[in-house]
Amino acid sequence: MFILSLMVSAVLMVVLFALGIFMALVGNYLAGTPRRSYLFSTGLFFSIGFLIALGTIVFLPGSLSYSNGEPYSFKANLWDYSAVIAGVGGVFAALVWQFFVRSRQSRQEVALVCLITLLPFACSDSANSTVSNMTAAREAKAEGKELRDTIKKIEPFFKPMGKPAAYDWLASHNEPGQTFDEYLSAQPTKPTTERQRIYILPLGTFNRNQENLIGVAADYLEAFYDLTVVQMAPRNLTSPAPSSRQNRFTRTRQVKARYILDEVLKPILPNDAAALIALTADDLYSNESTNYVFGQASIENRVGVWSLSRLDDNTDKQTFLRRTLKVAAHETGHMFSMRHCTKYECLMSGTNNLAETDRRPLDACPECTAKICWLSEVVQRERYDRLAAFSRKNGLSRDADEFDRKSAAMRTDVRRP
Ligand SMILES: [Zn+2]
Ligand SMILES: [Zn+2]
Repeated sequence: MFILSLMVSAVLMVVLFALGIFMALVGNYLAGTPRRSYLFSTGLFFSIGFLIALGTIVFLPGSLSYSNGEPYSFKANLWDYSAVIAGVGGVFAALVWQFFVRSRQSRQEVALVCLITLLPFACSDSANSTVSNMTAAREAKAEGKELRDTIKKIEPFFKPMGKPAAYDWLASHNEPGQTFDEYLSAQPTKPTTERQRIYILPLGTFNRNQENLIGVAADYLEAFYDLTVVQMAPRNLTSPAPSSRQNRFTRTRQVKARYILDEVLKPILPNDAAALIALTADDLYSNESTNYVFGQASIENRVGVWSLSRLDDNTDKQTFLRRTLKVAAHETGHMFSMRHCTKYECLMSGTNNLAETDRRPLDACPECTAKICWLSEVVQRERYDRLAAFSRKNGLSRDADEFDRKSAAMRTDVRRP
C-alpha cells in the first residue's frame, strides 16, 4: 500500500510537471517572451512541489508503517492532500521567483504563473477521484479501528496456529493468511443495502439426518453473519459428463464443484443475495488431482457449495453437526472475500481432513471475527449471545458456554483464566 501510494503520488507529480511545461509553452507563444525563463520558473515550481509531497509521504513520523495500520487516519489525510501540498510548494516557489528574482517581468507573465499555480489544485480533485477506491478502503480501516481494539478481548480464547502436522492443510498449501487490515484493503465483497440475504439451496437428494441439518445450518449462518437466511426450493443435481467422475477409492459419483458454482448457481443468483450457498449430499472434487473437497466458494461471485457427503463418516450426531456448521460458515466466509486464516486455529483455516476440521473451533478467531463484524455491522456481544442461544438449543452446550464467556469478555475486561 505504501509503495502504491508513493507511485501514484509520483505519477501525479510528473503529470502536473508536464502540464505546467505545456501551459508555459502556450503562454510563451501567446505573450512572446523568452522561452527559457518560463521553463525555468515552471520547472522550479513543480520540482519543489514534488519534493515536498515526497518528503511528506516518506519522512513524516509513522509514514513508513502505513500498511501496519496505525496511526492510519493521520497518514491517510497527508496522502490525500499530497497534490495540494505540492501546489502550495509551487505557489511558494513561484512567489519567490516573481518577487525576488524576476520582478521586472510583464503583467501577462504574472497572470500566467498564477494560472499554472492553480493547476495542482484542479488536479488534486481528479486525483482524489481516481484513488476513490483506495480512499474507501482507508475509510473502512479508520472505521475498523474501534473494532480492532474490542476484538482483542477474545484473543485468549484462541490457539495460535502452530507448526502443521504431516497431513494438515498448511503442510501442503503455502498460504500467507489475511489480517483484518489486509482484508479491508482488498475491497471485499460484502452485503449491501440491496443485498442483505443469504440463500441456501438444497441440491440433490438427502437422507433424513442430512435433511434435518439444513434448517439448523440456516439458523447458524443467520446468527454467525447476522443476515436473514432464506431456504430455496430444493433442486435436482444433474451432472453431465465432464463435470462428474467416479472416485477411484470410494467408487461413488463425485461432482465438480466449479460446475455447480458456474452452471447451477450463477444463473439463479437472486438480486438481493449477499451470498448463495448450495448444500449437497453428493461428494465433490475441485480438479483431477484432488481426491475430494468439503466445499468450494467463489471469492468474487457470491456463490458457494458444500457437501455433507463425508462429514458423517464414523461419528456421532453432535460431531456431524459441528462439522456441517463449520464448513457452512467457512464457505460463506469465502463468499465475503475472507481468505484462509493462518494466524490461529480458526474456523476460516483451511482443512485437509476431518481430524483437522474437528480440531478447529466452531468460531472465527479475532482477525476473522473483526471481518465478520465489519461486513455485517453487528454488535459483537449481541452476536455471541445469539450464537450461545443457538448452540444451547441444538445440544452444543460446550460451545454455548464458550460463546457465553466470549460475550462476557466483550462486556468487561474479564479474561479467561
Ligand atoms: Zn476454504
Ligand atoms: Zn481466523
